[in-house]
Amino acid sequence: MSTAVSAEREAILRTVREFCDAEIRPNVLRWDEAQEFPRELFNKLGELGLLGAMFPETYGGAGLSAMDYQAIIEEVSAVDPSVALSLAAHHSLGSYHIFQFGSEAQRQRYMPKLTSGEWIAAWGLTEAEAGSDSGGTKTTAVRDGEEWVLNGSKNFITNASVAGVAVLMAVTDKSRKTKGISAFVVECDNPGIRVGKKENKLGMRASDTCTLVMEDCRVPAGALLGAEGAGWVDSMKILDGGRISIAALSVGLARGAYEAALQYSKERRQFGKAISEFEAIQFYLAEMATEIDAARLLTQRAAETKDAGEPVTRFSAQAKLYASEIAVRATDRAIQIHGGYGFTKDFPVEKFYRDVKLCTIGEGTSEIQKLVIAKQLLADGA
Ligand SMILES: Cc1cc2nc3c(=O)[nH]c(=O)nc-3n(C[C@H](O)[C@H](O)[C@H](O)COP(=O)(O)OP(=O)(O)OC[C@H]3O[C@@H](n4cnc5c(N)ncnc54)[C@H](O)[C@@H]3O)c2cc1C
Repeated sequence: MSTAVSAEREAILRTVREFCDAEIRPNVLRWDEAQEFPRELFNKLGELGLLGAMFPETYGGAGLSAMDYQAIIEEVSAVDPSVALSLAAHHSLGSYHIFQFGSEAQRQRYMPKLTSGEWIAAWGLTEAEAGSDSGGTKTTAVRDGEEWVLNGSKNFITNASVAGVAVLMAVTDKSRKTKGISAFVVECDNPGIRVGKKENKLGMRASDTCTLVMEDCRVPAGALLGAEGAGWVDSMKILDGGRISIAALSVGLARGAYEAALQYSKERRQFGKAISEFEAIQFYLAEMATEIDAARLLTQRAAETKDAGEPVTRFSAQAKLYASEIAVRATDRAIQIHGGYGFTKDFPVEKFYRDVKLCTIGEGTSEIQKLVIAKQLLADGA
C-alpha cells in the first residue's frame, strides 16, 4: 500500500485547509452553540468540488479517488467534525446510493444538483425499532397503480431538515424479510413527507439530525432506487463505503484534539517548566500520535481497497471500529493535558470530546462493527 501523498493530493488538501481556516474555523463554536447547520457553507463546499468529490465529472463531480476523499474528510474533521459528518452523510450515504444503484435517469436528475450543493442529500435506514437491527424496518411502501405510497418514520437522519432529496428504505414485501426491503428516492418538497423531532445533541450540534415522517407519501414508480427488494442489501454496501468516511472523520477529529494538546503542552508551564517536559504528558502524546497514525493506515487500506473495486466490508469495519475508539481515547487525553482549561469552551478540545462519541455509534456501533468483522473472518477463514 502506498501512503505517500501525491503532489496533486497535497495541492487539494492545501486548498481544503485554507478553506477550513477561512470559512469554518472562525464559526465552529457559534454553529455548535446555536445548533445551526451552515447551509451557506455547503454552497461553498459545492463550488469547491467537495460535495461531489468522488463522482465523475459528467455529473458535476471532481472525479477523485476514495484515497483523496478520506484525506479531505480528515482535514475538514480536524477543524469541525459536525461539518465533516454532514458532508459525509451527503456524499457517502445519500448521494452515493443514488450514484451506485440509481438508473441513468435518476443519476441525471439528482447528481448535478447534489454535486453542486443546490440540494443536500439525506439517507434514512434507522427507525425507532430498527437501529442496529436495521432489517427490522417497519416503514412500508405499497404499490398503487403508477405510484408507491410510503408510510412510516425514520429516526436520527442527518441533513433531514435541509435535504432536497432523501433515500429511504421501506418494506415492499414483508414475507421476504430483509430481501423485501426496497430503497426509494424521495424529493423533500413532497407533501407526504415532513420533518419531525429535531434532536438536541451532546455533540455534532451543527450537523442537522431530525426524524423524517412519511404519511401517505406518494412517489412515482420511478422513485424505486435499485431493484425491488434489494434496498437493504444495497444499504449494507453503502455502509461499507460510509464507514470509511466515519473512520476518516475519527482520524481527523483525533488529530485536531492531538494537535491542540501538543501545542498547549508546550505553552502551559507548571513547576517551572512546560508540561510537555513531564514524561506522563509525553507518554500521552506519543500514544495519541501512534494510534492516530495506525487508524489512518487502516482507513487508507480500506480506501485503497475500495478504489481497487475489491470487497471492503471487513477493512472498512476495522478502520471505523479502531479509528472511532482511539479517537474517544485521544479526546479524553487531550482534555487531561489541558487540565481544567480543557473543561471550558475556551479551548477546542471540549467540543472534540463531545463530538467524538458519535463516531462509535453512527453507521453501526462498535459492537456491530465487531460482529461484521467476525462474520467476515469466519467466512474467509482469514
Ligand atoms: C448524530 C446521529 C446521526 C445519525 N445519522 C443517521 C443517518 O443519517 N441515517 C440513518 O439511517 N441513521 C443515522 N443514525 C442512526 C445510527 O446509525 C444508529 O443510532 C445506530 O446504528 C445505533 O442504533 P440505535 O441508536 O437504535 O442503538 P441500538 O441498536 O438500540 O443499540 C443500543 C446498544 O445495544 C448494542 N447492540 C445492539 N444490538 C447488538 C448486538 N446484536 N450485539 C451486541 N450489541 C448490540 C449497541 O451496540 C448499542 O451499544 C444517526 C445517529 C446519530 C446519533
